[in-house]
Amino acid sequence: DPSKSKYHPIDDASWSRGQSVPYLALAITLKKIEETSSRLKNIEILSNFFRSVILLSPQDLRFSIYLCLNKLAPAYEGVELGIAETNLIKAIAQSTGRSDKDVKNQLSEKDLGEIAESSRTSQKTLFQPAPLTVASVFSKLKEIAGMTGKASLQKKISMIQSMLVACKYSEARFVVRSLAGKLRIGLAEQSLLQAIAQACYLTPPNQNQADDSIDWPPKKNMINAGSSLHPDEIKARAEKVAFKVKSCYCECPNYDILVDALLKDGVDGLEEYCRLTPGIPPRPMLAQPTKGVEDILHRFTDIKFTCEYKYDGERAQIHLLEDGRVEIYSRNQENNTLKFPDIVNRFKDCIGPEVTSCILDSEAVAWDREKEIILPFQVLSTRKRKDANEAEIKVQVIIYGFDLIYLNGDSLVKEPLVKRRELLKENFNVIPGQFEFAKSVDTDSMEHVQEFLEESIKGNCEGLMVKTLDVNASYELAKRSHKWLKLKKDYLTTGGDSLDLVVIGGFLGKGKRTGTYGAYLLACYDPDNEEFQTICKLGTGFSDEDLEKHTKTLEGHKIPKPKPYYQFHSNLTPDHWFDSAVVWEVKCADLSLSPVHKAAAGLEDPERGISLRFPRFIRIRDDKNPEDATSASQVAQMYKNQDVVKNNVGGAKDFE
Ligand code: ATP
Repeated sequence: DPSKSKYHPIDDASWSRGQSVPYLALAITLKKIEETSSRLKNIEILSNFFRSVILLSPQDLRFSIYLCLNKLAPAYEGVELGIAETNLIKAIAQSTGRSDKDVKNQLSEKDLGEIAESSRTSQKTLFQPAPLTVASVFSKLKEIAGMTGKASLQKKISMIQSMLVACKYSEARFVVRSLAGKLRIGLAEQSLLQAIAQACYLTPPNQNQADDSIDWPPKKNMINAGSSLHPDEIKARAEKVAFKVKSCYCECPNYDILVDALLKDGVDGLEEYCRLTPGIPPRPMLAQPTKGVEDILHRFTDIKFTCEYKYDGERAQIHLLEDGRVEIYSRNQENNTLKFPDIVNRFKDCIGPEVTSCILDSEAVAWDREKEIILPFQVLSTRKRKDANEAEIKVQVIIYGFDLIYLNGDSLVKEPLVKRRELLKENFNVIPGQFEFAKSVDTDSMEHVQEFLEESIKGNCEGLMVKTLDVNASYELAKRSHKWLKLKKDYLTTGGDSLDLVVIGGFLGKGKRTGTYGAYLLACYDPDNEEFQTICKLGTGFSDEDLEKHTKTLEGHKIPKPKPYYQFHSNLTPDHWFDSAVVWEVKCADLSLSPVHKAAAGLEDPERGISLRFPRFIRIRDDKNPEDATSASQVAQMYKNQDVVKNNVGGAKDFE
């Protein structure tokens, strides 16, 4: 039982050494996690399961990890599951002898996974199909994800059907949710990494492989490493391991490589295998918002900094691989190479003769070739997403290079920006209108920063990025870092940054809006508790077209009841709940304490949360995952930054 705190990874496992991990063992683990709300307890449950996998069936560790994440490969490989609901309904109906309609009718009470599970129990089969294993489910899911074209549909459905027939107990629930691409057990990737680290600390993987040359059963210290130590010491050591696993994964976000390295040389060998590598896109560094020029000088007192234009386009991480290939990745590690064949083709002319491999951080911005001016983001967003044919490209782009994080075999992330920028300028050539360096000034004069900000806005930019230059100026992968500050023009007019929020509910429209949703329930994300906390009800800023489009998109994300990790007030229950999937950018007049909303509850007020006043819809952020939404602590910070709150003039009032 993986939920036991004194877990024995051999005696408490439901399978034996050398066997493939039964899928049922994973399904039971996922069910326990779903039923448990404590994050630490969930990490323990998952880590116990991984410990058994490490000891008994190490070859299945990577499949187990991918299945827990509802992924089949790293994001940049673009292998995705997301079988349409109607097809899953068909497969469930066919495998259980029910009608499609009958299955569909149940959707108002249960999600499809639960329907599949409860349908199973009443079903008797003539012969017993082979039990599912973690490896067999992974490979079937991968096969299904790889099938394309209309003709493959029936084949997909019959594969799903045969999987469902083999499901026992809660297996069908998780198979169906995985197929729909909606596993969402409420355990974020950081917690999963923590669970892997904890497992590897207690059960060192490189010493326990199912290899006959190794003593079996393993000695006690391999089953429970360091258990003779004081609990605080165990905790401290486990934390160190977790730090290492997480930072290695940051540099090299690929579980195949991570797991291979762990099984081969254990945690000690990780740094050697998991390095920054062209072709494996790391999560980029992000910036903190600021209130204005003065705020910057306040935060960077006595520290040298530089101001760069903040271009309003799309982040492009451009990799030159050793074999000469050029790959382009988005802010979210999606492979955008096929979207930008023009950049790929011109990139070779941008690099100097000495460059054999590199990772360049840059912004791709829409560009008017005739007028030689930057065009707004909205123009760029009309560009085709995939398989663009260079001759047919209508929206031209210019690349503004602003950082270099890898060059000729070496990672540069630990180097200060001043050095990285020097290497960038030394090794890359400007091609006017096609490839340029981000415009910058190094100054500590307030007037100069202000002038540069105004100039950037005139040049169709969003404002400035202000970055530490030599002290405390490394590149922090995957972090929203205090070393980078963003100063947007909007801050000057509306007093604050926009928020990126997750749509978790819909209120049916009335009058003119009948047939669509008239308003939505939005939430921020709290990574500490792994919760989505409501922050506002949003009904303005939409065009009629938007309303129709959103209603259609969200139809596919409807769930019968709120997720256990949604924090909301019962007085504000929407007509329909949605899975946390869609992210919108929203602006507001200001933020206030609220008795109803749950955002950042406990941070600024012991009980009340924070809500947005006069929120309005700006645009869809499909380059963001729900976990990339504005966080609870960012909301609290924004609330605190407001002048009304700062000066305590009356305080902000509740507004619902
Ligand atoms: P938003 O784009 O709404 O500001 P975000 O969370 O995507 O939010 P931020 O960290 O807030 O990203 O802002 C940094 C983004 O600005 C980068 O992801 C990049 O795409 C863009 N950018 C434009 N110019 C620069 C620059 N000179 N340096 C760094 N990033 C830049």
